[in-house]
Amino acid sequence: MVKDTKLYDILGVSPNATEAQLKKAYRVGALKFHPDKNPSPEAAEKFKDISSAYEVLNDAEKREIYDNYGEEGLNGGGPGGMGGGMDSDIFSHFFGGMFPGGQQRGPQGPQRGQDIKHVISCTLEELYKGRDAKLALRKTVLCKSCEGRGGKAGSVKKCTGCGGSGTKFITRQMGPVIQRMQAVCDECNGSGDIIPPKDRCTVCNGKKTTQERKILEVHISAGMRSGEKVVFRGEGDQGPDIIPGDVVFVIEEKPHPNFQRQGDDLYYNAKVDLLTALAGGEFVVKHISGDWLKVDIIPGEVIAPGTFKVIEDQGMPVYRYGGHGHLFVKFDVEFPKNNFATEEQLQSLEKILPPRPKVDIPKDAIVDDVILADTDETKHRTRQRPEEEDDYEGAGPGVQCAQQ
Ligand SMILES: [Zn+2]
Ligand SMILES: [Zn+2]
Repeated sequence: MVKDTKLYDILGVSPNATEAQLKKAYRVGALKFHPDKNPSPEAAEKFKDISSAYEVLNDAEKREIYDNYGEEGLNGGGPGGMGGGMDSDIFSHFFGGMFPGGQQRGPQGPQRGQDIKHVISCTLEELYKGRDAKLALRKTVLCKSCEGRGGKAGSVKKCTGCGGSGTKFITRQMGPVIQRMQAVCDECNGSGDIIPPKDRCTVCNGKKTTQERKILEVHISAGMRSGEKVVFRGEGDQGPDIIPGDVVFVIEEKPHPNFQRQGDDLYYNAKVDLLTALAGGEFVVKHISGDWLKVDIIPGEVIAPGTFKVIEDQGMPVYRYGGHGHLFVKFDVEFPKNNFATEEQLQSLEKILPPRPKVDIPKDAIVDDVILADTDETKHRTRQRPEEEDDYEGAGPGVQCAQQ
């Protein structure tokens, strides 16, 4: 259950809406209320609400926070909180330059830094219960001493050689051709500024950035799956004139020796003895929750090898929506060893078990009596045809001649 449905109501979708449904609802609403289409102040207000709602719900991490804690959760500035403010680019991202009044980032605007991806490997037990992991990260941050300027305030001048871009065009003559090529500016070494050596920041040595160790607390929710992400907005590397990218942790599920997962369901191979399979009894499953499940096989129910059964609601927790998947059990029946019973005891089995089927051979068939033996790997493995022979056959005599 979600804590508050307000943002879903704004978009007119149910809290179970898929990403595609959200996207569609946003498109429809945004087109209807966009100020260029609908200049009333009410429409402008509505357009803002729709955009903010979609901005939260379209982000798996923010949506989860909202579902669990409502709007206070987002304002609380947890991982990926709304501290950074609304992404005003979301509309232009969607519709490109469709509206002349739309917000567009100029070509000179700051660039967005790269996202940093980390794989976070989790056992099935961890994904069942959820887990908080503290991860240390080295990141580039703007130098705190010079606030990312590289030197004393006022002393940093834009490089006149390159106009601050850090690159220059140089021309070079190669024979009759004049080549124009881009090169790192030699006056500022590509930094774009000139800092007098006496004013240069001693902490970053004029580089404007330093390295920092940062601990991120990654909250892995119960029921998350391989490929799902925990995103820390804007925690990527900082740099002058860069909007930092995100740090993204991608869940990777480690294989489990006893359970296989498919979506929210679990699969388990159970081994029962022949007596239990035929006459009932019980077996246990050590569940990944840490609990033991005691399962009764009721006398009268026959478990044949390969039988498939389900224990409902004992699968993985369902991320975001609550509840559990199912636990499917496939049975393997353990038969007794040779000579487990005397001849008389075996005869008493004949009284209990259904009678043997009659062997049915056509009247005119030729019948050979043969012997059933135990297999022996050295004696019975498939004979391989020698490889050279194949090669020889593959290459015809004509090809051989032509190569000589
Ligand atoms: Zn320069
Ligand atoms: Zn500095």
